[in-house]
Amino acid sequence: MSVYAERVDRVRTAMDDQGVDVLLLSVGPDLPYLTGYEAMPLERLTMLVLPRDGGATMVVPRLEAPRVVEQPDVFAVLPWNETDDPVALVAGLAKGAGVAAIGDHTWARFLVDLIAALPATTFQRATGVISPIRMRKDPHEIAALRAAGAAADRVAAQLQGGQIRMAGRTEAAVSAELSNRLLAEGHERVNFAIVASGPNGASPHHSASDRVIQPGEVVVCDFGGRLDGYCSDITRTVAVGEPPAEVAEAYAVLLAAQQAAVAAAVVGTPCEEVDAVARRIISDAGYGERFIHRTGHGIGMEEHEDPYIVAGNALALAPGHAFSVEPGIYTPGRWGMRLEDIVVATADGPDPMNRVPHELVVVE
Ligand code: ZN
Ligand code: ZN
Ligand code: ZN
Repeated sequence: MSVYAERVDRVRTAMDDQGVDVLLLSVGPDLPYLTGYEAMPLERLTMLVLPRDGGATMVVPRLEAPRVVEQPDVFAVLPWNETDDPVALVAGLAKGAGVAAIGDHTWARFLVDLIAALPATTFQRATGVISPIRMRKDPHEIAALRAAGAAADRVAAQLQGGQIRMAGRTEAAVSAELSNRLLAEGHERVNFAIVASGPNGASPHHSASDRVIQPGEVVVCDFGGRLDGYCSDITRTVAVGEPPAEVAEAYAVLLAAQQAAVAAAVVGTPCEEVDAVARRIISDAGYGERFIHRTGHGIGMEEHEDPYIVAGNALALAPGHAFSVEPGIYTPGRWGMRLEDIVVATADGPDPMNRVPHELVVVE
């Protein structure tokens, strides 16, 4: 059985458990996860109609149909012509469904039209069906995450090794260089390359500006992209010249918190406890108010997906869960720091996808 047929089997079991009659998937990662086909984000509707019982159909614009690799054991292809009404086609295939689960990334215009076309159907999010399955990465997916992580590590090693000059250059220039290096190391796409120097480091998602990096500053470099369909995401903070004592002290706390949280990420531990482990260490050192975000996010085909490592998420880690561990300490107006690895929970303990040094490396 193909990997897609196996996944569809698991999805149908979940639909059965949850009383979902039909699954409707359009743009976003759920569709390629189940079919291998990634729909273009177009005004022309692509939608997989997957009934709990009976065959699935991929409704696809005729001009996109040549890109669909057919998986006859998973779905049939139904191309529609420019003058057809694709919503009516989908509604015809889903007719009689009491409960439809629709992909989170589906454009609202199509959902609104489908609700009108299927007045007897109740709609819910497909996440409830698919997310628990997508969260558990299989060995092939873990290998893909490891390859993406290793490629990001090579760029991080170049950063830490001083191959990327910092002082006197703009954040934007360093960001562009990180992006080019991610591509050179095999990424098919760069998703982001945050370079946040000095006071900009206190804004966790500051991207990169024309600010010129100065000696004596710390610079948060958080970058990632996609390789073979799976994402990388790493943060290393570097010091440009010897850092001030207060920065070095805070960094020692950050390092301890991040390493303790990674070590705590064992199967059976609730996600919120991994967050709490990092937060306790940072709070006990007096920086609690300055750690202003959750500890991590799941990662896979998407940069941010379930499971989230955050207070309130009691979900117990299971083998195959993949996520970031990325505490930070941010001092508004002055400096910021963050340290991030991707980790996979396994029966043998946490398996880090990133292995470059975690210390505050001094560069020029
Ligand atoms: Zn982020
Ligand atoms: Zn990141
Ligand atoms: Zn991240």
